[in-house]
Amino acid sequence: MEYCKSCATLLLREWKGWPLRNPIPMLPQRGDGGCDVCGSLEPGIPSKDIQWLNYHEPYNTGLPDYWLLVYEQKTKWGRPYYSEIECRRCHGRAVLSEHGDARRESYRYKINCPKCGLLSPQPRSDGWRPEFKR
Ligand SMILES: [Zn+2]
Ligand SMILES: [Zn+2]
Repeated sequence: MEYCKSCATLLLREWKGWPLRNPIPMLPQRGDGGCDVCGSLEPGIPSKDIQWLNYHEPYNTGLPDYWLLVYEQKTKWGRPYYSEIECRRCHGRAVLSEHGDARRESYRYKINCPKCGLLSPQPRSDGWRPEFKR
């Protein structure tokens, strides 16, 4: 799945906060006929390229001051736009967000819904538990 580059760039640049705590924006998809919203035909951003980046102010060596959403660099903190899913509460369009540490392969997941906010995903009947591991 790809997102419209011109729409997504603006929306991603506006966001700062904490992963799985502050909702992230829904991004317009770049379908076969261009962007659903602005009609742009330029190549889209693959959803898996969007990453969390922990931002430290100069001289801060402790916890990050906040996090950003980036797509031009690789980090090890997981994919905010891991996949698009149906919200389990309102059944609208939502995103499954992944956050964690790639070095330990340990991730947590939350449903990010524009109407309901952040929800814990339910474990699936086949035993897959998205909040613990991929
Ligand atoms: Zn667009
Ligand atoms: Zn919802």
